Amino acid sequence: MTGITLALSKGRIFDETLPLLAAAGIVPADDPERSRKLIIATNRPDVRLVIVRATDTPTYVQYGAAELGIAGKDVLLEHGGAGLYQPLDLGIARCRLCVAVQKGFDYAAAVRPGGRIRVATKYISSAKAHFAGKGMHVDLIKLYGSMELAPLVGLADAIVDLVSSGGTLKANNLEEVEEIMPISSRLIVNQAALKLKHDLVQPMIDAFAAAVRA
Ligand code: ATP
Ligand code: MG
Repeated sequence: MTGITLALSKGRIFDETLPLLAAAGIVPADDPERSRKLIIATNRPDVRLVIVRATDTPTYVQYGAAELGIAGKDVLLEHGGAGLYQPLDLGIARCRLCVAVQKGFDYAAAVRPGGRIRVATKYISSAKAHFAGKGMHVDLIKLYGSMELAPLVGLADAIVDLVSSGGTLKANNLEEVEEIMPISSRLIVNQAALKLKHDLVQPMIDAFAAAVRA
């Protein structure tokens, strides 16, 4: 590909990226929610989009299958960021990474030094890092979705998950007991492409930066 490819996931990241793309003069030719196409052309012959699973975005960019991508900080922390340049916080898809438990569970008692807790999460490395400093034992259970269910059926004492409004937690009798960090999505760039395709990639970074400032 002589032009550039931007990797994006469907849903909130795609929706919140559209205005930034528009500000950069880029308009997708198809809507990924309606079309089944995974490669989407744009009004710019040298720019195309590829639609990937959110957790796969850093991988496509790391290996240069896409020069650029947009990924949540949650996903980037789990990926590790190898081969990626992260020039810009886009401030989109904002939420927070939290610890939540079933209402009435004594979290303060469970996290005392010497204590032991079972935590279900999709975010194994962020959860491990968070509990590492507490001097307690954590059993981590990897899940791929519907984390809220785990405490309700006795799979775990707590979950580490993303929360925005808190509506899903509330609907499942869970409460947020600790915020680990705020989350938003970042522009990511393949480090080699930044050098080898500088004339195409740098203007894209600049256009995103201007759109974020506006
Ligand atoms: P699925 O929900 O289909 O399993 P996913 O969880 O991989 O897919 P999304 O739910 O679309 O994908 O989340 C994509 C990104 O959006 C996340 O990596 C995160 O950065 C952000 N995100 C997730 N949940 C929220 C939320 N409730 N509010 C705001 N941003 C969120
Ligand atoms: Mg999700």
